Amino acid sequence: MTKTSSHTPIHVIGGGLAGSEAAWQIAESGIPVILHEMRGVRGTDAHKTDGLAELVCSNSFRSDDATSNAVGVLHAEMRLAGSLIMRSADANQVPAGGALAVDRDGFSNAVTAALESHPLITITREEVTGLPPEEWDQAIIATGPLTAPSLAEAIQARTGADSLAFFDAIAPIVHTASIDMDICWYQSRYDKVGPGGTGKDYINCPMDEAQYNAFIDALIAGDTTGFKEWEGTPYFDGCLPIEVMAERGRETLRHGPMKPMGLTNAHNPTVKPYAVVQLRQDNALGTLYNMVGFQTKLKYGAQAEIFRLIPGLENAEFARLGGLHRNTYINSPTLLDRSLTLKGRPGLRFAGQITGCEGYVESASIGLLAGRFAAAERQGHAPALPPETTAFGALLNHITGGHIVSDDEPGKRSFQPMNINFGLFPPLEPGTVTKPEAMKRFRGKDKAIAKKHATAARALDDCARWLKG
Ligand SMILES: Cc1cc2nc3c(=O)[nH]c(=O)nc-3n(C[C@H](O)[C@H](O)[C@H](O)COP(=O)(O)OP(=O)(O)OC[C@H]3O[C@@H](n4cnc5c(N)ncnc54)[C@H](O)[C@@H]3O)c2cc1C
Repeated sequence: MTKTSSHTPIHVIGGGLAGSEAAWQIAESGIPVILHEMRGVRGTDAHKTDGLAELVCSNSFRSDDATSNAVGVLHAEMRLAGSLIMRSADANQVPAGGALAVDRDGFSNAVTAALESHPLITITREEVTGLPPEEWDQAIIATGPLTAPSLAEAIQARTGADSLAFFDAIAPIVHTASIDMDICWYQSRYDKVGPGGTGKDYINCPMDEAQYNAFIDALIAGDTTGFKEWEGTPYFDGCLPIEVMAERGRETLRHGPMKPMGLTNAHNPTVKPYAVVQLRQDNALGTLYNMVGFQTKLKYGAQAEIFRLIPGLENAEFARLGGLHRNTYINSPTLLDRSLTLKGRPGLRFAGQITGCEGYVESASIGLLAGRFAAAERQGHAPALPPETTAFGALLNHITGGHIVSDDEPGKRSFQPMNINFGLFPPLEPGTVTKPEAMKRFRGKDKAIAKKHATAARALDDCARWLKG
């Protein structure tokens, strides 16, 4: 039964990152919510629990730097907007250098408890098997990259557009006690301390050139999961399987997740490692560490064998091996209006990764916006869109305005899932960034950093103004 309020409830389908945040924002504005989550009745290929806002892979919300990193700016804007996801993340953070990482169970438990105890939120554990019925006049679909098939089919039938499917890969998790600390050492890159960190938050495994080459050979030769059905499906570059990166070039990993910069081997400080594998704390107890950037579609047997070639991981025990999962998202630029409503179906919104954003924080932030827009509409107001200069606005603009067809190949879709990045923000007004008096020359890296600072400051000012109304 719906909890008491003079308003008709808004239905949110999916209690993941986006749906949980949307439900919270709606309820906090005084409107009742019915949150429909299928886990408890039906699982997905990646979720392990029935908890709301479960993190299915990494436990990191990425950089928390709100002055020079776009996702850090998004964190800050979400905190300004009273985000439940950020509140729960902050309360459950584990050390991770400059990143905001969380104890995944503590985080999910905090979100679940807050939603369950909110007087205006009712949670029903059920699979929604078709488009929301017309009598749910206001609804948000936030069913994520692993949307249950019957709902995905209904969306496809209604929109007439192809839902695109491709694969994200999960990184393995190692039992800390099985890591050889006579070979590995604790250090954050450039000794960065970050929120809740110590400068020694990562476990580092060093490789010399011969070890690196042997490892690359093994990765390329490794047995991968049978993949016929989806061959030709494009990977999202931010989540490439490690063996695909290795195939792209011998040096790719050494310049990507295995880069040795900013790290000094505590056991052998005078010899610079040729490459380094980093592991990041995965739970509050510190008993599990995940292999950073090591998403993979290698078969389980091959993974264990190949990853034990890494110095320090010869006897590694894996709490979870890597894997591959489907990602479903709609062609939002054609299907949704600026307030995330499906064109031709007033009151029906989409939120989260299914809209074509990518990542936990981005998904939650689009849930936050969808929730606020739906609540405004229920109260009889037109939704106030965030300025495009904010991280919220930049991401929303990418989703609802991201380009659709390529000039070279008319009709071909080019909309791709995207993490928030400074490239999505409008350029600064000319003259915003000027040479500091003390600086002799002002270009290159210094100028790029100054531009990021100015873009971030503009975003936070504009966001605060937008939230004041
Ligand atoms: C395998 C994998 C690994 C990933 N790794 C990362 C990572 O390391 N870092 C990162 O930032 N992002 C990662 N992502 C992306 C991440 O999943 C999303 O960014 C985020 O979880 C999406 O949030 P969401 O709320 O849109 O979807 P979800 O968090 O998946 O929530 C959707 C919810 O809807 C429910 N649901 C689905 N269908 C129905 C239905 N018909 N009826 C009722 N309920 C339904 C599901 O059970 C789920 O709880 C990964 C995604 C996948 C698939």
